Amino acid sequence: MIILVVNTGSSSLKYQLVDMKDEKVLAKGLCERIGIDGHMNYKTDEGTVFDKDTALPDHGVALQLVIEALTDKEHGVISSMDEIGAVGHRIVHGGYLFNESVLITDEVVAGIEELCTLAPLHNPPALVGIRACQEVLPNTPSVGVFDTSFHTSMPDECKYYAIPWEVSEKYHIQRYGFHGTSHRFVSERCAELMGGDASKINIITCHLGNGSSLSAVKGGKCYDTSMGLTPLEGLVMGTRSGSIDPAIVGFLCEQGGMTVEDVNAMLNKKSGLLGVSGISADCRDICEADAKGDHRAHVAREMLLKSVKRYAGAYAAELGSVDAIVFTAGIGENDIELREKVCDSLGFMGVKIDKAKNDCRGKEVEITADGSAVRVFIIPTNEELMIAKDTKAIVEAL
Ligand code: AMP
Repeated sequence: MIILVVNTGSSSLKYQLVDMKDEKVLAKGLCERIGIDGHMNYKTDEGTVFDKDTALPDHGVALQLVIEALTDKEHGVISSMDEIGAVGHRIVHGGYLFNESVLITDEVVAGIEELCTLAPLHNPPALVGIRACQEVLPNTPSVGVFDTSFHTSMPDECKYYAIPWEVSEKYHIQRYGFHGTSHRFVSERCAELMGGDASKINIITCHLGNGSSLSAVKGGKCYDTSMGLTPLEGLVMGTRSGSIDPAIVGFLCEQGGMTVEDVNAMLNKKSGLLGVSGISADCRDICEADAKGDHRAHVAREMLLKSVKRYAGAYAAELGSVDAIVFTAGIGENDIELREKVCDSLGFMGVKIDKAKNDCRGKEVEITADGSAVRVFIIPTNEELMIAKDTKAIVEAL
């Protein structure tokens, strides 16, 4: 079965066409600046076929152009759109309604719509993507894969905040967690690399990118995760503060004359590595400035490191025993020094990595040293493949 994986943002549409026979990516690309002016790229085995400005007034037009590229006589990878067996949509928030991937029906669309209050920035674009696909590929089944669903297995003491129970219930306030598709992919892959039985192992998965989260995965199920009601909670990130004293919000409103909206924007878009360093949200720029002696860049880097260590240590204690640690996403896959420092800090629980093996970027590799009590892996994440696998399983069972 050939599956089109679609990840829709407010002005973007990322796509990947996967042949599930051998899990090969036939083509992929990105439509950007949708509704503004428009830019699109398209890549196949041949490399980048095109990368050009093109009018993209809405997501429907973008998807139409994607189908045209995929079926193009010269550079296409399929002969007609009927070869697409199913569409898999990445959906950020499954909230309290979806604890697993589902076939998209009218009822599911209504559910995703209901959850827009919890994810006002993320779920509306996903709905636009679903509707565009229904228009362009009306006879093709589609599946929704939620970033939050992997975390629905968390026990109540991890899931809920210590605020009045009635308030949590009334407003559906709980820790939903994000990056679940990535945490699931790398934890399943890690179990595979360790011999197969996920139900017998405990893993700490570290998804460290522009947005970052750690998960404690117990016996194949998420036990705890660092992001919360929104992706703001947890680690220090590119532009997000991560966890802070919640009283800071009220303080800035009362003393700083800021509105709640201002504070939200500050915590989400102007904080983290960017806010502390004043230089960049990009970890590479921070490392470079730190190496040149910039104090604020140094502090930003140390804060990021400390937040990873703190959650990893906390999850080790929560899990009781840890069999493996996995690093993934842009920073996790590429930042050699960060991996070394985090693992060194966990030396007290027997974590030892092989520095020569750790000296690599973006590759699946085990970096455990001889004699380590915990195995350590770098596993490049592949959310698209996870979405394609779920989509295939659901559509084949119809
Ligand atoms: P992602 O959101 O997964 O695409 O990750 C983006 C983050 O990965 C950015 O902060 C990049 O600076 C970071 N990154 C990519 N390559 C490296 C590298 N070689 N060293 C440190 N950070 C990196």
